[in-house]
Amino acid sequence: MSVRSISILGATGSIGTSTLDLIERDPERYEVVALTANSDVAGLADAARRTGARFAAIGDPSLSGALADALAGSGIACGAGAQAVTDAAAMESDWTMAAIVGIAGLEPTMAALRRGRAVALANKEALVSAGPVMLGVAKDSGAHMLPVDSEHNAIYQCFDHENPSRVAKVVLTASGGPFRTLSRAEMARMTPAQAVKHPNWSMGAKISVDSATLMNKGLELIEAHHLFPIGADRFEILVHPQSVVHSLVEYIDGSVLAQLGTPDMRTPIAHTLAWPERMETPCARLDLAAIGRLDFEAPDPERFPALDLARAALAAGGARPAILNAANEVAVAAFLAGRLGFLDIVSVVSKVLDRYDPPGPISLEDVIAIDGHARDMAEQAMEVLAA
Ligand code: NAD
Ligand code: MG
Repeated sequence: MSVRSISILGATGSIGTSTLDLIERDPERYEVVALTANSDVAGLADAARRTGARFAAIGDPSLSGALADALAGSGIACGAGAQAVTDAAAMESDWTMAAIVGIAGLEPTMAALRRGRAVALANKEALVSAGPVMLGVAKDSGAHMLPVDSEHNAIYQCFDHENPSRVAKVVLTASGGPFRTLSRAEMARMTPAQAVKHPNWSMGAKISVDSATLMNKGLELIEAHHLFPIGADRFEILVHPQSVVHSLVEYIDGSVLAQLGTPDMRTPIAHTLAWPERMETPCARLDLAAIGRLDFEAPDPERFPALDLARAALAAGGARPAILNAANEVAVAAFLAGRLGFLDIVSVVSKVLDRYDPPGPISLEDVIAIDGHARDMAEQAMEVLAA
């Protein structure tokens, strides 16, 4: 088998370390080009040394010296700052994992897409904010986007890419998150520590909070619309607490195809890494007899208003998804920092959407400007709440 060159953007995160776990099980098969992180110098340097990466980039520019020290004598080149991360993404490789969290991943992901190779996309916030701009770049370069998000990876495996008109609808499953059964009054008291304790998946803090508000499913609805263009009204959300059925595709004849598996992100990551082939993974196998039953319920838009906000942003298009995402990123960071209540996260997003309605972006610069303005407005909305 030929050696494949790979880069991992966000190598120290939950998705990044799961990706490293897979490639380090078969080191002969992969040549690591670049690894990036934001502030975890030790984690980045250790991964770069273990894998023999050519280049390591740290996002925080003040950590330039620390990274150089940590890599001293290794022969691994390094850089610091946002541009260094984007430079890492622009280095030639066969396959790139885009797993930076949030809009910080937008420019590096775009740089990877411009190279026209395979890009495994975990960084949903970038696609939500810059959808048409990002898809345009991928089309021009011939880049192949492979969805890592478990739902989208499931849909990708079940979807008829040649004949999308045969698909009647796509059903995204949602675990319902840690607060699935709580009342709004109970949710109001929930702390960051409680919000990040996801019942089924082990993930980074931001996506864990998004799973608790169900904003994650809202972002995924927009993500799915871009990846599987069958019309915004053909996507449904179904709460499935066990996270075994990762999503479903219903065909016009009534057949429903689904992808199932244990909740381990290494399975969808492996699918994108081996695509169009398949590779072995150490993931636990699905034992349906032991699980016994699978439950499903309709989502509750009263208790989880993020769903309707996201659906409205998707229907309106233009700048709305980027505003939704930016305000949510700011509000989630404030909640994690103890500056905002749990229910206020979605209130802040709603307020920013009410007050800011610019024309839709047509370039990457437009997306970045809209994102920046929506962030400022979210900060203002939080000041009003705190006053
Ligand atoms: P994480 O917080 O565990 O890791 C994030 C990574 O991004 C880290 O390597 C961090 O160093 C890097 N990073 C953060 N800010 C940065 C910045 N400003 N500049 C450069 N690098 C920066 O997050 P995660 O859970 O691995 O999620 C990563 C992405 O994958 C997110 O977009 C998330 O929505 C998506 N995703 C994650 C999962 C999961 O199971 N964890 C599942 C589906 C999708
Ligand atoms: Mg998901």
